[in-house]
Amino acid sequence: MPAQTDLNLVPFVSVETMMNLVASTGTETFLTELAAYIEEDFRRWECFDKTPRIASHSLDGVIELMPTSDGRLYGFKYVNGHPKNTRTGRQTVTAFGVLSDVDSGYPLLLSEMTILTALRTAATSALGARYLAPKGARTMALIGNGAQSEFQALAFKALLGIDRLRLFDIEPAASDRCRRNLEAFGFQIEICRSAEQAVEGAHIITTATADKQSATILTDNMIGSGVHINAVGGDCPGKTELHRDILLRADIFVEFPPQTRIEGEIQQLPADHPVTELWQVMSGAAPGRQTAEQITLFDSVGFATEDFSALRYVRDILIAGGKIDYLDLLADPDEPRDLFGMLLRHKARQQT
Ligand code: NAD
Repeated sequence: MPAQTDLNLVPFVSVETMMNLVASTGTETFLTELAAYIEEDFRRWECFDKTPRIASHSLDGVIELMPTSDGRLYGFKYVNGHPKNTRTGRQTVTAFGVLSDVDSGYPLLLSEMTILTALRTAATSALGARYLAPKGARTMALIGNGAQSEFQALAFKALLGIDRLRLFDIEPAASDRCRRNLEAFGFQIEICRSAEQAVEGAHIITTATADKQSATILTDNMIGSGVHINAVGGDCPGKTELHRDILLRADIFVEFPPQTRIEGEIQQLPADHPVTELWQVMSGAAPGRQTAEQITLFDSVGFATEDFSALRYVRDILIAGGKIDYLDLLADPDEPRDLFGMLLRHKARQQT
């Protein structure tokens, strides 16, 4: 990214620029480097302004704003969740976000975040699993084979060495697509006929289904000792994936409790049910997995600091040499207080 001389022009990461960045970096390298940024920010958790995301719910979905700041940079993401969208050719989840300079309030970057969200969600899942999954885990059940699924698979390969996948989706075409897309990445993949079959022999179980209801993708009898569950799809009030009995047997790890208690699997539990915060595990203040028999659960909902880390990472790659477009987003009158004069001069120029 060339030095920004014109401060009213805001660097803009389009979908195409994001795809170019991922392609030139390599998906697995991107996920690994992104995970390092996410981990770095989790380790300085106390530096951040934190608030549960601001959600506007409707019949078929939700639109959310996710802000945070470390006092130097400020970031927010706009994201939706509309499970019915795929029926009309649209994504369940789309997003874009902004990273700003706290001192001036000026945006430093406006970025697409649909792809970036899938990458950061997968990187966070795999990062959590590094502390929580059983040692030597190689096999992952992946239930729900939609937009997030390949990203999850690749992050677990890049960060943990997972190389065997057991796929299940209620729509077989989704599993077929997922297998096809992952063909070149060296996984051994089995498509399963049910969630029960998918979890057989899996060390890690990832659920990434989308339904605007309390579903029961996993029941208690499907979960053997020693398994790590990465529950990604339950991320809204009334939208969960696990039977409550699993939660009662598992040690539960979360991002930001005030948000997860509203949105995560633990909305099914009393508000004082003990959970461990991921940042404590990453900073060494709390243990991750302690025994081979323990059932661990990452109750993922997605938190603002992860998007902040992702925007920070993307900006750093671009500063190191990426090609970027600029948006004429901020009004910039010759004299800062003469905003109206800028309009008058523009009109006069148009009339000549
Ligand atoms: P998607 O609509 O592209 O895919 C969801 C898939 O789940 C579909 O293929 C669907 O057929 C399948 N499915 C639905 N019900 C199922 C069931 N009972 N059993 C098996 N498969 C089932 O959605 P996506 O973008 O992949 O997102 C998946 C989920 O992850 C969504 O619920 C989304 O809100 C959530 N999400 C969470 C985070 C996070 O940070 N935790 C981030 C992004 C998305």
